Order: sequence, then C-alpha cells, then structure tokens
Amino acid sequence: MNTDFVIGTERRPLRVAIVGSGPGGFYALQSLLDRAPWCATCDMFDRLPTPYGLVRGGVAPDHANIKAVIKVYEKLGRDSRFRFFGNVMLGRDIQVTDLRSHYDAIVYAMGNESDTKLGVPGEDLPGCHSATDFVGWYNGHPDFLQKSFRLNVESVAVVGLGNVAMDVVRILARDPEELAPTDIAQYALDALREVRRLKRIYVLGRRGFVQAAFSPKEIREIGDLSRSDLIVAPEEVAFEATPEQRAAWDKDTQQNVGYLLAKAKEPSGGSGKPRQVILRFLVSPVEFLAGSDGAVAKVKLEKNALRYDDKGQARAHGTGEFVTLEAELVLKAVGYRGIPVSGVPFDERKGIIPNVDGRVVADTQSRQPVPGEYAVGWAKRGPTGLIGTNKPDSVATVDAIASDFSGKAPPPRTASSPAPEAMPELLRSRGVRYVSFEDWKRIDAEEIARGKAKGKVREKLLHLDEFLAFVKERP
Ligand code: NAP
Repeated sequence: MNTDFVIGTERRPLRVAIVGSGPGGFYALQSLLDRAPWCATCDMFDRLPTPYGLVRGGVAPDHANIKAVIKVYEKLGRDSRFRFFGNVMLGRDIQVTDLRSHYDAIVYAMGNESDTKLGVPGEDLPGCHSATDFVGWYNGHPDFLQKSFRLNVESVAVVGLGNVAMDVVRILARDPEELAPTDIAQYALDALREVRRLKRIYVLGRRGFVQAAFSPKEIREIGDLSRSDLIVAPEEVAFEATPEQRAAWDKDTQQNVGYLLAKAKEPSGGSGKPRQVILRFLVSPVEFLAGSDGAVAKVKLEKNALRYDDKGQARAHGTGEFVTLEAELVLKAVGYRGIPVSGVPFDERKGIIPNVDGRVVADTQSRQPVPGEYAVGWAKRGPTGLIGTNKPDSVATVDAIASDFSGKAPPPRTASSPAPEAMPELLRSRGVRYVSFEDWKRIDAEEIARGKAKGKVREKLLHLDEFLAFVKERP
C-alpha cells in the first residue's frame, strides 16, 4: 500500500470535525494534534460566536483561577492544523450529513445544555428558576440575557448540594464589590448591587451531609465569605457513622464531614454578618407555593430518611413529615442533561449521546456502532467531574479514533470533500457568517480593552451583531 495515501499521514491527514468548543472539545483537539507521527486536521464548530463553552459561560466570575485553562486552549487555537467555526449550529446551519461528507471522523463535544427538572408542582412559578439560567445570566451568556430574577428578596432557596449550588450561593452571598473587577456581566453586577433585603439563603439537600456533592474547597469558600455566615445546625449533622461507613469515605467526604461538624459547633446564628447561608439536609421539595402576587413564596419540604441499597448507596426516602420554608426566589441546581440534535443518537433516560467508551452507538439496546462518530465530555458521560476530568476522558476517545483509523486508506470521497476549503465554501453558500479563531482573538482583545476601561478583567460582548462586527469580511 502507498503509505502517502494512508489516512492520518501528512499527505492525507485524518480530517476531524469537533462539535462544541468547551473543555471536552479542546482536550480532544489537543490529543488529536499531539498524536505524532499521526497527522490530523481539526475543524471545531460552536453554535456561539465565542469558544470555550462552560469555561466562559459557566465557571463563576470569581473563579478566575479555574478559567486559566483558557491559556492552554488558546495555544491550541493558533495551531495551523486547526480552524474554528463559531456561530455555526449543528442542526441549524449544518447537518450531520454535511459533517459525514466533509470529515473522516466527528467528535461530539456539545456538553449538557439543559437542566434536570424536579417534577414537582409549582416548579415553573415565577421566581422559581433553574440555576443554569442564573449562571448563564450573570456570565453574560447570549441565551440568558433576557432572563430576570427577583433578587431583592429576604429569603432564597437553592436546591441541590453540588458545586453549581455553591457557585450560585456565593454569587448571591458575596459582597458585590468583590465581583466588580471580575468578568461578571455589568447588568448582573448592577442588579446584585441593588440587593438590600436579602437575609437568608437556604441550601437544600435531599440526602445527608455525608453525601453532599460539593468539593471541600467550595464549601470552605462559602464559610469564608465576608458578608455571610455559614450556618450548620447541630441537629442537621447528628449522625453517628459506623467504622465501615467511615472507611468507605473518600478524601473529599472526609474533609467535608470534618468541616461541617466543626461549623456545627460554632455559635448558633453565626457571627452576625448581614446574610446567612443555612444548610438543610435530608429534605426534598415536594411543592412550590405561590404568594398573593402569583410568584413563589414558600417551599413545602418533605423530611427524608436514608436507606442503603444493595450496592451500599444511600438513597433518600420521604418520611411523610412536612415543613414549609419561606423563599421568594428558588434556584434549582439539581444537574444538567443534553439536548438532542437531529441526526445524532440520544439516550433520553441519561440525557447523553449513547456511546461505548466514546464510540457513538445507534441506541442503548442494540449498541450498534455509528462508524466515524465519537463523543467526549458531558455529552459522553453526563454532567460529572471538574474541568480536568475531561482531559483523560477525551484522550480515551481519541485512543478509540486512533485505533479505528490507523493504517486505513481513506474512503472514496465526492469531488468537493473532504477538501479543506469545502467547509468554508459550504457555509458561505448558506449565508452563514462564521467566526474564525482570528475573529475571536479580535473580539477577545475588544472585551479585555472594554473591561480595562472599567477596572474589570473583561467586559463581555453580549449580542450577535456586536460579535459579528469583528468578523473579517471574506471574499
Ligand atoms: P452535582 O454535583 O451532580 O450535584 C447535583 C445536586 O443536586 C446533588 O446534591 C444531588 O443530590 C441534587 N439532586 C439531584 N436530583 C435531585 C432531586 N430530584 N431532588 C433534590 N436534589 C437533587 O451537579 P452540579 O452541581 O450541577 O455540577 C455538575 C458538575 O460540574 C459536577 O461534577 C461539579 O463538581 C462540576 N462543577 C464544578 C465547579 C467547580 O469546580 N467550582 C463548579 C460548578 C460545577 P444527590 O447527591 O442526592 O443526587
């Protein structure tokens, strides 16, 4: 065989489309480009005009250290074997069939863009939101600019004990002046500065304090806030673990348990700071109740007890005992799920793209592989793990790609594809104004300059026409 024409060589690189430009997509890109002596070229698509997915639109503005990973992605973005096509949506501007005809392999890295519902009455009342909406709103995500939140209330309830819950609690409980130099959207900062009545933020966990999903660092950060006390009532953590149970705790659980037990020993009522973050365990919202204005005013909670299943997992079960809390704003932070895209298999139950170790399968029953299609990140495994978790996860998927394509001759192609110029031409012919990586770098410079003028690290552009003003006209 003439190796010049083997796929994955310089003469005939493996041509890969990556759909989604968050951490999963960028780590897949890194692994594909790093795989010498292999040769791959990668085109990355994102429906937004900007790259970096949740690092830009999800990570909290006061967590600048987490966003530092962008430096790695930026370096990859300058590689000559890479092209970015922002403002191009799969299912709207291009279809899976287009990707199949233009590329050898497709890597789906679309994340999980929707949220999990609680499925209880009143969860769609005014004032009752998904935390995803609030996160997108304070981060200036184009999808959430029109959202508004009743922030100037006395009591808020945040449902869930994960790190997203910690993020939204912190943004509400923090002194807004501490957020002023960050890249928080200016309208969100202005709104948070107007919050004068807020006294209590309840954080509601359906299981016990031992099962809390937050990271030790995140709960400590709440405990260290300048304007809020973290309240853990002793009765909330009154649980005697058996030696077997203790032995099964991982490091994070041990640290969380130690921290929460110490907090419970502090004076009840906290140290008199203006706001209180009050942790409540073993409670599930069963109904959100409206006040006279029709908006949420109370949360009806059922107290839970834990039962252990045959795998030793603690499960919450309602006890039939109910309590009611006042809350005029509710933020539900109970997990994410993917959104189905036409032509891409979807597992309705898990909210992900069905796959076996990153290889997409047609459905969960037959597990019939879809040749040349792969998944990474939350689209592959669901909404778990930190940003760094995506690196080995993407490498594992690229291992599968490498093993599927190594030494293979390219399949017969049509005249136009997969020539490198074919995709820009297709997009132009459909009137799609895409944002290249060079265009993005101009947007980036503009955002940083606008931020500098205000003493902020960045002031994000918000509207599509603003972004498109930085797109170089193409012949
Ligand atoms: P998560 O860590 O899975 O937490 C979800 C929380 O919602 C859990 O406490 C869960 O309780 C609860 N929950 C789920 N269904 C519920 C229901 N029906 N009723 C009541 N409670 C329910 O998810 P997340 O907070 O959305 O975070 C997603 C991922 O992103 C996580 O891996 C997280 O660590 C990561 N993240 C990291 C950071 C950071 O590093 N700073 C920030 C944000 C997100 P159970 O435990 O009982 O299921």
